[in-house]
Amino acid sequence: MGEPAKLVEVESLSFAHEKGDQAQQILQDVSLHISAGEVTVLTGPSGSGKSTLLTIVGGLRSAFEGSVSVLGTELIGASSATLVETRRRIGFVFQQHNLSDALTVAQNIQMGLQHSGGHRHSDAKERITEIATHLGIGEHLKKYPEQLSGGQQQRAGIARALVARPRLVLADEPTASLDKRTGESVMALFDELASAGGAVVLVTHDKRILDQADRVLSLEDGKVVSTADVMIEDAGKVLGKLMASEPDRLKRLLGYAHGLAQVALADGEVVYEERAVIRQSLLDRGVLQVRELDLVMELALAQADVLGKGHLASEDREQLAAALRDVAEADSQVVDSELRTIEKLLSDSG
Ligand code: ADP
Ligand code: MG
Repeated sequence: MGEPAKLVEVESLSFAHEKGDQAQQILQDVSLHISAGEVTVLTGPSGSGKSTLLTIVGGLRSAFEGSVSVLGTELIGASSATLVETRRRIGFVFQQHNLSDALTVAQNIQMGLQHSGGHRHSDAKERITEIATHLGIGEHLKKYPEQLSGGQQQRAGIARALVARPRLVLADEPTASLDKRTGESVMALFDELASAGGAVVLVTHDKRILDQADRVLSLEDGKVVSTADVMIEDAGKVLGKLMASEPDRLKRLLGYAHGLAQVALADGEVVYEERAVIRQSLLDRGVLQVRELDLVMELALAQADVLGKGHLASEDREQLAAALRDVAEADSQVVDSELRTIEKLLSDSG
């Protein structure tokens, strides 16, 4: 169909809720692009506008400013027929699954195939059984929703949303009320859809899912920030605090971690087992909390990795030399130890 590789393109999106005669700004100048093949996690504090953003991208909410293009269709100013058509091509996994009580589980799931066309009856039946089984409700296809537990109903809702293999899936905390295994089955389905050229945007706080995502975006104060930025800021704060309150302990531990990291990296890569031993060894020192400790370890590994690579580009090297001199001169006196350090750093890096 010649759809663009960017399945979602949001540019300068702003959205406000009317509260009485006052408008509450929810999203402010949000821009983001979602490519085919990606599982993107959207995270951020409660009330930061994650659900609002998903409903706008899903064509479920209008009256916003900016540009929102979904599966090649611009949603701003779109007719309601266009919005309906776009919604049909999206798999929605929301907490309220809205199953029809009058239909069996199989019939409910089949509703998800209605608009996809091209399914022969036997194919449809096979696909429904396949996805229901994958989600652990294969034995309940002939039952009615009221005969299922809440979690099973949720899974039926997910099956209905994904049965037609939509190009775009929007999921709002899909695993929140699911057990670990079902959560993993849902994530496996998401991965499968992304690998087949689709895209999944999901709101979650689940740490395990964050680790698996191709990309993590964070909403804060109505703006999208990349999570790497947030983490670096947080990490900077933690280190600054430690340095201010416990400089000696931190320095000892950093030196210690640095040594471990250099050995771990000596063969060119750090494997999981090495990380585990380093972490345990730092933990045994009993100085830092686990959260701080991970930071110290990753920092030491990153530093050892960069330094171990040596060989800066020549222009970087010149700049480094100049910058090192600036730092040495910053307190208006350059001492021998500073000069020796500079010499060593430059020879290590070149
Ligand atoms: P999140 O999903 O990140 O928790 P939401 O998108 O649900 O955040 O909500 C963002 C903000 O919009 C919150 O401050 C919420 O109170 C407000 N809000 C949500 N829905 C409405 C509404 N229908 N009318 C007015 N304010 C709303
Ligand atoms: Mg929400």
